[in-house]
Amino acid sequence: MARVYFASSRVKNFRDWWVPEQSLLRKMERVFFAAGLDKIVDGTVGIKVHLGEPGDVHYLRPAYVSKMVEIIRSLGGEAMVVETSGLGWTPGRTSASKHLESARRNGFCEETIGAPIVMIDGDMGIDCLEGSVGARGLGKLDSMIVMSHSTGHIQAGYGGALKNLGLGCVTKAGKYRVHFEGLPRINDKCDLCGECLRVCPVDAIQGNVITERCVGCIACVDVCGKGAVEIREVPSDKLSRMIAENASEVVEAVEKIGYINLIVDVLPHCDCHPHSDIPVTPDIGVLASTDPVAIDRASIDLINKSPGIPTSEAEEVGALSSGTDKFALINPQTNWRLQLETAEKLGIGRQDYEFIEI
Ligand code: SF4
Ligand code: SF4
Repeated sequence: MARVYFASSRVKNFRDWWVPEQSLLRKMERVFFAAGLDKIVDGTVGIKVHLGEPGDVHYLRPAYVSKMVEIIRSLGGEAMVVETSGLGWTPGRTSASKHLESARRNGFCEETIGAPIVMIDGDMGIDCLEGSVGARGLGKLDSMIVMSHSTGHIQAGYGGALKNLGLGCVTKAGKYRVHFEGLPRINDKCDLCGECLRVCPVDAIQGNVITERCVGCIACVDVCGKGAVEIREVPSDKLSRMIAENASEVVEAVEKIGYINLIVDVLPHCDCHPHSDIPVTPDIGVLASTDPVAIDRASIDLINKSPGIPTSEAEEVGALSSGTDKFALINPQTNWRLQLETAEKLGIGRQDYEFIEI
């Protein structure tokens, strides 16, 4: 059974004023060591964290990342923040240069976090490991610390460590196969303007036909002003399972991985949205584990145990009481259990866990 270490966000003795050890950053450090993540730190250490879509203001703050860089350096590791590009052509994180600019605007750059940010899937988000959807740069890491923001997710129900692996560490091809099925298709609205040919990174479009060369970046969908490129979304249950499938490829690619989940600013949606709704629960705390399934399960259990926040989506859907399944009520078309169950079947980790509060 995996161990999950937890420290609460609550500072009970705040009236003593000068209690720096009560900082959530220091608590993160304590759970990190308690969970034995220091033993994972080795050589080049990737810190995987979602840097926030422009417009989102509740992503994990750079201070958490800067602290993690400090911890890794203190252990002799060479820290770098690793990230991948999102699908599409126009939004703020769809290429390495756009993503780094968005990250800078969200407060992440070498000056603020003390380590470089490396886009491990190349300039266009399509550089993968051989035979895998994992980003190519994963192959250069000796170890990785996956820092995840525990949130809801409109298609998977919940997003945490498994989502950070299965969507955050893969190329656009990996993201495409989670969200869509089959190749994109050009319909008869196409007037052969050629815009999509200009942006396709792999010359997959011949006239008005998308060929097997397509890597599913959906740049063509984004640039076509005529709505002529069709893509088929997968149902939520398949999407959840595919997150776990992708996660298993990432776990294969990096020998040693440790996990930190922060249950703060618990949005009803993930940090890919260009906005931040009111958090659905109060801040709860920080967890550490060597098991991505156990840490996600423990995070969901803590969120469900917590009361919800009035005026948030939790109130709208009747999920204010402690003990309600928040994400099942908030995104009722989803089932957060599926990604955990699939990950468990794939041998990535286990849902049963020993909970240790420090
Ligand atoms: S951008 Fe749209 S209309 Fe233009 S060639 Fe491509 S599919 Fe056709
Ligand atoms: S055809 Fe495929 S690879 Fe080319 S732009 Fe469209 S989705 Fe991307």
